[in-house]
Amino acid sequence: MTTLPLPTEVLARLQSKQPLLWLNPRLGQPLPASAPPTELIEAAETRLARCAPLMATLFPELASSHGQVESQLMPATGLQRAIVGNDGAEGAWFIKRDDELPVAGSIKARGGFHEVLAIAESIAIEHGILDPDGDRRVLATAAARALFSQYSVTVGSTGNLGLSIGVMAAALGFDAVVHMSADAKAWKKDRLRKRGVRVVEHEGDYAQAVAAGREQALAAPRCHFVDDERSALLFLGYAAAARHLARQLAEAGRIVDAAHPLFVYLPCGVGGAPGGITYGLKALFGEYVHCFFAEPVASPCVLVQLASGADAPVSVYDIGLDNRTDADGLAVGQASHLVSPLMASQLAGVFTVPDDQLYVQLLALKTSMGVEVEPSAAAGIGGPGWLRESPEGQAYVRDHGIDMRNATHVIWATGGSLVPREELRRFQAYAETLAGRSPVRCKG
Ligand SMILES: *Cc1c(COP(=O)(O)O)cnc(C)c1O
Repeated sequence: MTTLPLPTEVLARLQSKQPLLWLNPRLGQPLPASAPPTELIEAAETRLARCAPLMATLFPELASSHGQVESQLMPATGLQRAIVGNDGAEGAWFIKRDDELPVAGSIKARGGFHEVLAIAESIAIEHGILDPDGDRRVLATAAARALFSQYSVTVGSTGNLGLSIGVMAAALGFDAVVHMSADAKAWKKDRLRKRGVRVVEHEGDYAQAVAAGREQALAAPRCHFVDDERSALLFLGYAAAARHLARQLAEAGRIVDAAHPLFVYLPCGVGGAPGGITYGLKALFGEYVHCFFAEPVASPCVLVQLASGADAPVSVYDIGLDNRTDADGLAVGQASHLVSPLMASQLAGVFTVPDDQLYVQLLALKTSMGVEVEPSAAAGIGGPGWLRESPEGQAYVRDHGIDMRNATHVIWATGGSLVPREELRRFQAYAETLAGRSPVRCKG
């Protein structure tokens, strides 16, 4: 089945779907020469800022934030108390509420909106509708819409990226086409169709939906394909989250330095969103930030890619996993070609989560804090437990000379606010059938 050079014990755990924490042996090595310069992250921040008035024009729900698409950093004392008790041994927990990001309802708003805005700017500049230094609200005028209607924007997605790209592209008047994998939820497709987005359904998985979209886009003139497996514009849009988070941490009185480490736990699909955020945070905080990805036991594509040490793309199918998970946002078999080489030296590690555990964590979050998320978005909650209770996690803390009492833990919640009520009820009802299981699971 496999010839991947994975450590034997890691391979055995992965294949038997036993959760594990994998620590990245290459953490701290230099970035490859191809790594995007930090000026590009700043350029993405600038783009989002100058497009904020446009966003407020396009989406009434952004009026109160003046077009800024951001989420709150919420103290998670309730969750921390429910899971570990509050003895102060572990610093402070926070939840980054990207489940509430406006318009798109998931972390995909960050990368997706950035890329569509960049495309719109460049087409409008090219056609003399927009002055490079001009007010971006011109992109919402009839003239701009007429221009954009001659172009299509295409994407392949398990759901949330399609929602983000589709809604943004349609709002600007583009012909928006979303290729959806078989695991995409019906309500996501319905929602897109209602917004005038063309949804193309595929029998296969996420990678096949992406490939189909890429192929169609290549064949069509005036078509921009948003390539989740290799797009720098998506990546940089995610990376732009870092500076805002840094401000929120400062406002919350949380210092990040050698004596006050920052831990961030990010649910991971193809790696673009968590990779971009990690990249942005590393640019600001360097070795003082420790980023861990959370992947489903059936879809640990970034873990497999990084642990194999291979340059060539490898997939979870190569080791006999089926990539079947209820965490539809994370159901990806092969990691981003753009992101893996960057994460090879920046990511602290990856832990895996069984589906049932996602539900237990989702319920713990709802019960302790009233926060309702989709299964994918609950994946990061186990992060602090892995560091506290597993031999690997304890070794990491020890080897880095970390005093956890001064640590800040940010659990990134990545999606949920658009999920229909009845779906949320179903998630919670299923989780209740698992009652009695611990919200901490870092053993087999
Ligand atoms: C897409 C997604 C992620 C992960 O982002 P990737 O770029 O695919 O790694 C995490 N959570 C949710 C809810 C998502 O939709």
